[in-house]
Amino acid sequence: MSEAKEPVIRPRVATVWLGGCSGCHMSFLDMDERLLDLAAKVDLVYSPIADRKVFPEDVDVTLVEGAVVNEENLHMLHQVRRNTRMLVAFGDCAVTGNVPAIRNALGTALPVLDRAYRDARLLNPRIPAEDGIVPRLLDKVRPLHQVVKVDAFLPGCPPSPDLIHALLLDAVAGKVPSFAGRAIFG
Ligand code: SF4
Repeated sequence: MSEAKEPVIRPRVATVWLGGCSGCHMSFLDMDERLLDLAAKVDLVYSPIADRKVFPEDVDVTLVEGAVVNEENLHMLHQVRRNTRMLVAFGDCAVTGNVPAIRNALGTALPVLDRAYRDARLLNPRIPAEDGIVPRLLDKVRPLHQVVKVDAFLPGCPPSPDLIHALLLDAVAGKVPSFAGRAIFG
C-alpha cells in the first residue's frame, strides 16, 4: 500500500493598493514569464489583479502599494497588518509618502477637496458633491511605517520587476529581504 502524501503547503501572498497610482502593480505584472514560475510556488490570495473582495486571514507576505491617504486606506492597512506575517512597503509612496504626500504642504485636505470638487462645481454644477463618492481624506498623508509596523521596505517609483522578483523569492523562503545598496528611490 502506498503511503499518503503530505499536502504541499504553499506560501500565501497578497498585494494591496492604497493611495498610489498602480504603477507598482504594473511593475509587478512586468515580471512577465517569472509570474508563471511564481504561480507554481505561491498562492496569490488577494490582489487588485485577482478580484477578491475580502482580505483573508493567515497571509504570509503582503506587498502594500501607496501611502495612507484616506479612512478606507487606514482601515485596510490595519486589517492587512493583523492578518499578515511579513508586511512589505512596496514602492516610494508606501515607504516615504512620495507623490500623494505633496499635499501635506497645504496643511489639511480641504484645499484638495476645494480644487477637485467645489471649485470645479462652480464651473459645472453637474459635477457631483464629493460626499459619498470618495472616502473621507485624512488631513495628513502618511507612509505605512507611521501607521503600522513594517517588516521590509522596497523603494523605487516603481520598484523594478527584478527587485520585486528577488523580494518575493526571499520572502516566500522565510527570509526578511533587505535592499540596502540594491534599490534606489525614484
Ligand atoms: S511609488 Fe511611484 S509607481 Fe508606485 S504608486 Fe507611488 S507614484 Fe506610483
